[in-house]
Amino acid sequence: MRRFQVKSVVALAMTVAALGVTACGDDGGSAADVMDDTSATSGDTSASDALAEDSFAPADTAVAADTAVAADTAVATDTAVATDTAVATDTATPQDTATTDTEPGPAPVVAPGCIDGQYDETLPDDTASVTALANAYSAASYTTFIDQVLATRYPVGQYLVARGVAEYTQQSCVAIFAQGSTGTAKQLLGQLSTIVHECGHFLDGARGTFSGNTYVFRPDLAITCDGGDSRDRFGNTFARSEITKDEYDALWPNDFYKDTYLVGAGSEQGFNMVAEEAVQYVNSLATDWAFRDNLGSGVSISARDGILTFLFYIERYLRWARLNDAQAHQFLLSTPCWRRVILTIWGRAWLYIDESEGISSLGIDDAELLDLVLRPELLEEIDRVRAAEGCP
Ligand SMILES: [Zn+2]
Repeated sequence: MRRFQVKSVVALAMTVAALGVTACGDDGGSAADVMDDTSATSGDTSASDALAEDSFAPADTAVAADTAVAADTAVATDTAVATDTAVATDTATPQDTATTDTEPGPAPVVAPGCIDGQYDETLPDDTASVTALANAYSAASYTTFIDQVLATRYPVGQYLVARGVAEYTQQSCVAIFAQGSTGTAKQLLGQLSTIVHECGHFLDGARGTFSGNTYVFRPDLAITCDGGDSRDRFGNTFARSEITKDEYDALWPNDFYKDTYLVGAGSEQGFNMVAEEAVQYVNSLATDWAFRDNLGSGVSISARDGILTFLFYIERYLRWARLNDAQAHQFLLSTPCWRRVILTIWGRAWLYIDESEGISSLGIDDAELLDLVLRPELLEEIDRVRAAEGCP
């Protein structure tokens, strides 16, 4: 599932809208969940709730405003150029941030000698032109458009979408999550990160087994681990809702994602699903980063917030386990497969957090979340995974 937030700054008024609070196959796409999610997608209730919370303009207004900006494709492109310049000058890496934002001497964010620091993949080609494809856009062939623009800029995403459609045969992730966004090329580009995220869930769900979860990171890297669900669901971990009992819950009262993932339906799922969401929120950020020139001027989205929230949840889950559920902690840290999943998520996430650092359109509460994720005692939880892995 994906929660997604859009903030528009329009003239004198600040408009905040939470859009597309879409729920997805939380377990990577069981038919039942997909059904649930579809209703959540079409129902505006949760989106309205989020809006009410922010007490700003209704979602429809924001959509309309966004669509209006759509006409100015050229303006949007110019804005993107400006953003790129900002990226070029801001060369801060997560490591830099860690050393400047925290006390001297904390562990590096990624460890060069371990799985996380050694993770690599070809970054999206964010400057490849999709203008010709957009100009030739036809709603009738929107699936081809999705495939072509992803092939142009983010081939990993193209793979996840194509395979998610092909391997999860009960329902098409593209048909479900492109619904309502196929009117224009710009609208569809704005929906791409949700489509990649959800198709990633569907693909992982299609490849998973009853007791095993598959995480597809790249076309050439998929990891399947057993037993990661909560004990009530025949696994070896605990419900992700447990972490709301920790002290960090109060430290982050504005958690936009908490209700969706840590409270209510789905929150009984175990560490396996914390990991699954984290995997897909990296894909969301990768897609949003690759297509950020499609964002209207003055618009910010929660691209960085999503993955930072899930890194925060992973750290908190590991900490809660270590302090309150030694068996679950032991299970995660002593199982090579789960260590590999945790460290691969961690390493891949930082590639994109690093790449999107300083791009204000790609985050809303990302600065605050970054501070939380970089808290030394939480980084130590990742260090403990590396130590269990035998990393130097
Ligand atoms: Zn999701």
